[in-house]
Amino acid sequence: MSHKVTIEGSGKHCHVTRETLDVLFGKGFELEVKKMLSQPGQFATPQKVTVVGPKGKTTLSIIGPCRKADQIELSLTDARALGLDCPIRESGDLAGSPGVTLIGDAGEVTTKEGAIIAKRHLHITPEDAASFGIKDKQNIKLRVGGERGLIFDEVVARVSPDYATYVHIDYDEMNAAALSGTPEGEIIG
Ligand SMILES: [Zn+2]
Repeated sequence: MSHKVTIEGSGKHCHVTRETLDVLFGKGFELEVKKMLSQPGQFATPQKVTVVGPKGKTTLSIIGPCRKADQIELSLTDARALGLDCPIRESGDLAGSPGVTLIGDAGEVTTKEGAIIAKRHLHITPEDAASFGIKDKQNIKLRVGGERGLIFDEVVARVSPDYATYVHIDYDEMNAAALSGTPEGEIIG
């Protein structure tokens, strides 16, 4: 099995609930669309928040639309700088992850949980999954080339008709392989 996929690097960002957005930016505030992202319906916004951990703080962009839970996605480097011990998790699997304080233009919210290192993943349509022979939740191997070429193991495939086929890794992982832009990788198993 050998199939090419496009890789996107995800910078640190957060997803927020409607209730959290009301507190951070004022009741009824609507996230603005800066740029539509590769996954259908998801968009980058110009809205930024400060995230505060035990050892530091940093600025995060909000990705829209609002979700059912606040979720803060950091790289291991970001998490260490903030003094957070974040688990490596799939999106939405937040139980036992640390909470943080988010500060917006209008107020602040301290979350009970929600700060994670996103597990590297492949979003894939059912059509591509069938043609590649990949099942939902399967861990695949992805090879990237170049001067620091390497094989990423433990890339979890998530199959849904709501997705477009892309691999998402964070900037620690992009940098480990000296990747930039939206490079291609090869699924090798
Ligand atoms: Zn993703």
